[in-house]
Amino acid sequence: MQTTEQVTKDKLLATWDKRPLIISGPCSAETEEQVLQTAQRLAATGRVDILRAGIWKPRTKPGMFEGVGAKGLPWLQQAKKLTGFLTTVEVASAKQVQDALTFDVDVLWIGARTTVNPFSVQEVADALRGTDVPVLIKNPINPDLELWSGAVERIARAGVKKIGLIHRGFHTYGNTEYRNAPMWHLAIEMKLRNPELMMINDPSHICGRRDTLLEVAQQAIDLDYDGLMIESHIDPDKAWSDASQQITPERLKELLDTIIWRKENINSEEYRTALERLRQQINQLDDELMQILGKRMKVAEQIGNYKRQNNITILQTSRWNEIIERAFRKGDKLGLSKEFITKYFDAVHMESINHQKKIMDS
Ligand code: PEP
Ligand code: MN
Repeated sequence: MQTTEQVTKDKLLATWDKRPLIISGPCSAETEEQVLQTAQRLAATGRVDILRAGIWKPRTKPGMFEGVGAKGLPWLQQAKKLTGFLTTVEVASAKQVQDALTFDVDVLWIGARTTVNPFSVQEVADALRGTDVPVLIKNPINPDLELWSGAVERIARAGVKKIGLIHRGFHTYGNTEYRNAPMWHLAIEMKLRNPELMMINDPSHICGRRDTLLEVAQQAIDLDYDGLMIESHIDPDKAWSDASQQITPERLKELLDTIIWRKENINSEEYRTALERLRQQINQLDDELMQILGKRMKVAEQIGNYKRQNNITILQTSRWNEIIERAFRKGDKLGLSKEFITKYFDAVHMESINHQKKIMDS
């Protein structure tokens, strides 16, 4: 006869190795009923391996919902009893680690706002010493692989054997397409540095909205990620945190059914080649260029408005010469030819002038 503890341990080992590993559940545990209902509806999909729920929520501003705290832990225990799910919560302090372990949380995760802070990561690491609980480490908010690696190292040095990575995107100022830009090349680089660690993708916090979850999840699977963490809620619009990105358990099932798990003709190893990494970098740089061009156009628009108010002509030759001479000087240092710079500025400048003309004529 196996003890319950042994059964859970065996299950944990098997789940940790399962591919794809699917983690889902609400951004935050809100009420006992919400946690239990979410768990049961997720169990009914037959697609989820680990139930997640935020118990302590690190919020950007004070006064927002900061999580129900330790009183939510027995709800997760109950959910586990009802559905058989393993459970995972975010921890950011020694006390939270102790509370989570007291209530049999199976897997802990370190959030993006904690990974950035070596003091907090060390505190969590020290609290984990001597336990054998698996830990998932989210990428830090800022695109810094050293911080991410540093967190992995601190947790590993505390003796934690099972460590996984969660890629949840990076904050970039003024980005509107994503809540957190995926910057795939960074996650790929991290995976290359740590081939033995599992890499989970979190489309929910990358997208910040529902309609692009599938696209990001598919991209992750195409890049041979080991699994997905996706937030789900019984009534997403009414969620107490991250309402706009959560989906119902039933929608989660549809999404998982729609994903193409293995693309034929594509050897997953190919995706890890240098060529693919470089392509990802090009895509990322192109995205950034596009954003900068958009910003440039906005400034040109302001200039257009100013000129209109002050009756100044649109095209001033002296200014144009100044722009191009300046670009030649800068471009020279960057290895850009005069021919390229002229072509580029012709295009950008014409676009600005057309923009300004529209404003003057309006
Ligand atoms: C979360 O998973 O709900 C969360 C707070 O995530 P992150 O740390 O990625 O922002
Ligand atoms: Mn969330």
